[in-house]
Amino acid sequence: MGKRAIVMYPDEILQVECEKVTVFDKELRNLLRDMHTTMIESDGVGLAAPQIGIPKRIAVVEDDDGRIIDLINPFILKESGSQIAPEGCLSFPGLFGDVERFTTIKVRAQDKMGRTILFEATDFFARVIQHEIDHLNGILFPSKAISLYPEEGQEDE
Ligand SMILES: [Zn+2]
Repeated sequence: MGKRAIVMYPDEILQVECEKVTVFDKELRNLLRDMHTTMIESDGVGLAAPQIGIPKRIAVVEDDDGRIIDLINPFILKESGSQIAPEGCLSFPGLFGDVERFTTIKVRAQDKMGRTILFEATDFFARVIQHEIDHLNGILFPSKAISLYPEEGQEDE
């Protein structure tokens, strides 16, 4: 399919608790491929499945080295520190806000084959993951923002 349309706020699907993935099949791998394409072509650094209309616990994120990591059923095991920085979202074009996030997180997720992955993320990468996990719980960044403002030239999540 390739690039998929991004669901914009206030679509209801952005505000529901997404369902856990239990089947790791070809359909899931095709979906992940489309999510990669959609994120890259939208100049995003993260994309959650509800943003393309699929209420499942799936997100793709770009790490510090520019690699795309698939996060299926992601969960934060441990967190520490606090950072405040601007954040945007592909479902809120042109809107940015300062959001407080944990500086360092330890994440558990599954890959496209269903294997457990464990890793630590810090700073901007940790921010992107927290933003995407919020999406999977129907939480959108403006509800956490300390301030909201229009801005150009930032990366969207
Ligand atoms: Zn977002």
